[in-house]
Amino acid sequence: FIDNDRLEIVGLLGLGAYGAVYLGRHVLTRKHYAVKCLNRIGLTKRQHGFQQREIALHQMLSDHPNILTLEKVIHTTECIYMILEYSREGDLFNAITETNCYAGNDRAIRRVFLQIIDAVMYCHHYGVYHRDLKPENILVFEGGTRVKLADFGLATTDEDSVDFGCGSTFYFSPECQGGIHRNSKPYKSAPNDVWSLGVILINLTAGRNPWKQASVKDDTFNAYLQNPDFLLSILPITTELNEIIKRIFCINPDKRIQLHELRRQIASCRHFTRLS
Ligand code: ADP
Ligand code: MG
Ligand code: MG
Repeated sequence: FIDNDRLEIVGLLGLGAYGAVYLGRHVLTRKHYAVKCLNRIGLTKRQHGFQQREIALHQMLSDHPNILTLEKVIHTTECIYMILEYSREGDLFNAITETNCYAGNDRAIRRVFLQIIDAVMYCHHYGVYHRDLKPENILVFEGGTRVKLADFGLATTDEDSVDFGCGSTFYFSPECQGGIHRNSKPYKSAPNDVWSLGVILINLTAGRNPWKQASVKDDTFNAYLQNPDFLLSILPITTELNEIIKRIFCINPDKRIQLHELRRQIASCRHFTRLS
């Protein structure tokens, strides 16, 4: 990114919590960038803190092949502009729901999911917990073969989180929700990210979020609590993958599978999708 040169806004990529993400084009090089605008006006102290953290932590972690590059940050009185590497192919949610390029393709699922684990391991190695891991916050490149983690808007460096309901419904862990017993003790940030990874893994394999059931009336999560093999009966996943999934969706965060072990299991998992 060349300094002191103009960037023109040529499109809209997404609407977010603090403002919009625009498609920008560098006037001189004609290269595209995503421009994420964070509105600074009328924020609470807490929101201001999240914004500051988003920029600082993203800047710190940006230099990894599976983390979206943050090229530059521009401050004005009203806005903070994050100049980001642009993905023409959009986010992983779009790739899963619209092009469906991972359905039934075990190699593609493994490759992409390992990249997501690598990005999260890199964050955790530096003591950063993302807390909003979901397909919308992962961008797709190279025909779906390469992915990069983005949106550090809820990231924290606290090993124990106190922000309940921080993240996205159907992605955050039960303990983040306040626990199944609604006891609001601080919860560990690392296993919470692992839980969200499990939801992403099922999304990649089955094409939908396991906890968001449009067609089935009964509550999937309660059915899972009653019978840990329940997901196997409603999703096109293999028993091999189901064994890994059960270790991710372990209600006790202290007994939940850890990232390095999850990586090992995924790398050696032979079949993800159950063919009907
Ligand atoms: P928010 O914090 O508001 O959720 P995100 O950073 O997640 O903002 O961006 C919102 C959406 O904008 C993403 O889900 C994605 O669809 C789109 N987007 C964000 N960054 C890029 C990018 N670099 N290239 C293409 N699309 C992007
Ligand atoms: Mg987002
Ligand atoms: Mg955000």
